[in-house]
Amino acid sequence: MRWMVVLLCLFGCSSAPESPLHRWMQANGKVKILSTTAMIDDLVGQVGGERVDRLVLITGEMDPHSYEMVKGDEEKFSCASLIFFNGLGLEHGASLRAQLQNHPDAIALGNTLPMCDLLQVDGQIDPHVWMDVSLWAQTIPAIVDQLSKKDPKGVDQYQKNAAALKVKMLAKQTELVAKMQQIPPEKRYLVTSHDAYDYFCRSYLAVPGEKDWQQRFSAPEGLAPDAQLSAADIQKVIDHLFKYKIQVVFPESNVNKDSLKKIVNACKEKGQIIEISKAPLYGDAMGKNTYLEMIEHNVEVLYNAWK
Ligand SMILES: [Zn+2]
Repeated sequence: MRWMVVLLCLFGCSSAPESPLHRWMQANGKVKILSTTAMIDDLVGQVGGERVDRLVLITGEMDPHSYEMVKGDEEKFSCASLIFFNGLGLEHGASLRAQLQNHPDAIALGNTLPMCDLLQVDGQIDPHVWMDVSLWAQTIPAIVDQLSKKDPKGVDQYQKNAAALKVKMLAKQTELVAKMQQIPPEKRYLVTSHDAYDYFCRSYLAVPGEKDWQQRFSAPEGLAPDAQLSAADIQKVIDHLFKYKIQVVFPESNVNKDSLKKIVNACKEKGQIIEISKAPLYGDAMGKNTYLEMIEHNVEVLYNAWK
């Protein structure tokens, strides 16, 4: 079976010659890694360094919650030595979920995190674990383990890279917490399009030790941005805006602004002017940023809006 996969990777690739995908599919002695999201790919690249060749499945501004397999994706799964995905219900498009469940080398990084650190929203585990740098850093050991199994000669390098990455991430965590905590607590109330920021809120917006920190975040759309809004969803956010005297709401880079516009218009009818931030936040995508730049961007946007 293995030789069939190799042949497919050498000769069966339907991508254009010399495209990044074509190069990734060529056997070159490196460990071929397919990651579902760019946030995962960033960590894998920093741990794997030159020993791995990486490819991201869900690129740009695509929604990872609803992504379905497209033509050419099966080849990527066939050619990958290892697949890293978020898990915790993030990739719930039926065709992708089936592919991930059935692949022997697909690793759900979110499932390696301690249950006690995971959050639930409306009875479901919240999959947006990358929104807290210190929590996301806890997936590094699983990446090291899996890379080391596939490429035992690289163990020392992987461990060394992982140690440096962990130091870098925890230093950034300290810096971002300190920056956000410069904003007075009464201003640190966040409203975005969908429920992607509970981990962010717990880590950066909460007052240390605060029990009801979840009051600091509200969004009209649920864990996946599906735009199926009820009047109750809208009213919940309007009440939140009035209760906490919030003056600005934040769109997300890859979610349309319709739900926020509805809320802002409803507030206007009641005589309350709410602004939609011109600078969007990143939730399920990270633009052209590295992972840490993306989280830093979110902190900067909020800091500048609230200071
Ligand atoms: Zn999301």
